[in-house]
Amino acid sequence: MATKDYKVSFWNSVALMALGGIFVFEAAKASDNNDKYLTPVTLQLQWYHQFQFAGYYAALHKGFYEAAGLDVTIKDGGYDAKGNAIIPEAEVVFNRAQFGITRTDLLINHSQGLPVAVIANVMQHSPYVFMTLKDYGFSSLEEIGLNRPVTLNLPSVSDGRNDAEAMAALKVAHVEPAWLNNRFPTWKIEDLLNGTTELMPAYVTDGPFFVEKEGRTPLIISPEDYGIDFYGDLIFTSVKMIEQQPDIVKSFRDASLQGWKYALEHPAEIVSLIHKEYRTRNEHYDLEFLIYESAEIKKLINPDVIEVGYMNPLRWEKIAKTYQSLGLIREYDIESLLYIPPANHPLSGYIKWVKLLVLPLIISLIISAYLYSLTRRLRKEIARRREAEATLKIQAERDALTGLDNRYAFQRNFSHEFERARRYKQPFSLVMIDIDFFKEINDKFGHLAGDEVLKSLANVTSGLLRGSDQMARYGGEEFVILLPNTLESEAMALAERILRANQSNCVLVDGHSLQYTISLGVTELSDEDQSINDLFKRSDQLLYEAKDAGRNCIRRYVGKFVLQ
Ligand code: GH3
Ligand code: MG
Ligand code: MG
Repeated sequence: MATKDYKVSFWNSVALMALGGIFVFEAAKASDNNDKYLTPVTLQLQWYHQFQFAGYYAALHKGFYEAAGLDVTIKDGGYDAKGNAIIPEAEVVFNRAQFGITRTDLLINHSQGLPVAVIANVMQHSPYVFMTLKDYGFSSLEEIGLNRPVTLNLPSVSDGRNDAEAMAALKVAHVEPAWLNNRFPTWKIEDLLNGTTELMPAYVTDGPFFVEKEGRTPLIISPEDYGIDFYGDLIFTSVKMIEQQPDIVKSFRDASLQGWKYALEHPAEIVSLIHKEYRTRNEHYDLEFLIYESAEIKKLINPDVIEVGYMNPLRWEKIAKTYQSLGLIREYDIESLLYIPPANHPLSGYIKWVKLLVLPLIISLIISAYLYSLTRRLRKEIARRREAEATLKIQAERDALTGLDNRYAFQRNFSHEFERARRYKQPFSLVMIDIDFFKEINDKFGHLAGDEVLKSLANVTSGLLRGSDQMARYGGEEFVILLPNTLESEAMALAERILRANQSNCVLVDGHSLQYTISLGVTELSDEDQSINDLFKRSDQLLYEAKDAGRNCIRRYVGKFVLQ
């Protein structure tokens, strides 16, 4: 049946909803993964690629930055092609980079009004040391003297960097920088080895390694020996970034620290990553070195004791105080130097899931609401069609003029009753009726009058039938009556009543009273009847016989045609 195609069951709806939901969920996921806009940011390192910056490579290559919505470019530092020092503070302030790595020297810049802020302390202790060779015969800052060639980043030779720890340690040691035979530092081991300098700045994480590799004995003078215990590498950004893009600052901070945790837990992996993917300062920065460096860096970060990135405001106060007492900075409020990341909302872990689930849920609801209304509309449509079909069926099986079954309904019923009567060996009779001289009625009184006679006949005759009897208008003015479970004698009795009722029936048309008569053929199912046609033909023949016998009479079949 046609309506079946339109059927939308509850389960169809659920399946469609689920499909819709999956589609939306996948689409959301796809857009989350593929089309997600990553904010491009640049991180300016203060030195060449090495394990000192392991956390950022890990964050990049392990996808932490991407997951945080960031497309991070990591730029190495040191010196540019022209030999100029790359100053991360300048890169960040002039917006060529959004984040930078530097040391606590930043405090000096900040006190001078540079709009920057620290977002994380990576190294809890500074790797910055003074390095000399045992051969040069001194082991303290006080012993430097006036002539010994040194190369330190001091304001007198500043290239933009001010090694605050050096200045602080020198102050504590009562060594006036201006007295020193100081020149611009190249940070080159060769200069120390060949005597160009006898004291150079170094990172404890690499300098001694290279000196020892050259077969010489390094000697380290640490600022810590002078009570200067500063933070080491830190991540900073501009105040503008913090004010205008706090989400990005927080995302960058979190992802970077996540990278650091990873790098410190998987040093071998990140060492080989750096070795493979990044151009280090020179060939000496090989795998062996990077492995050594990773262990040294871990000591400075001290992740087993202190949470990576942790900033202790009190320690910063102390650092600032040291700077102030040394006259390196004026007294000022350092609060604005420290960016305190907004605490993670206790529900923030769920928010992502809520977003992931709620969006598809809302869309699923919209789809289901749509499907529901569609289903309702379809149901209405189905109901409407069923009604229409029922009407059509009625129209197809009903005679419009008389309201009786038509020929098709009759034939269907006739076959059905015929089979049933034969199967259950029950009697079954058929009465056929034709109006006498109907043409004349039409001719004399008009077609409409004829119609009235037809209607009246149907009405009068059907009023004489039992519930199981079925009367149909077979043709123009021909009618049939199926009489299930009815003997021929019973059918005859009925036929007589019908004959008389119609004989005496008066049809009022336009003030005229019309009378008419009918002829009938009555027959009962016999064992010889093979099909309904046999019975029908016989009835028709009987009717013909009745007409032939003068009309207004009944002919029945009892082995032979008999006039009643
Ligand atoms: P007979 O006694 O031999 O049956 O004579 P008759 O005039 O009834 O002859 P016949 O059966 O040949 O004529 C039937 C007529 O019935 C022909 C047709 O014009 C008329 N007729 C058929 N259907 C309708 C109808 O729906 N309405 C009207 N008014 N007349 C119809
Ligand atoms: Mg006829
Ligand atoms: Mg007739």
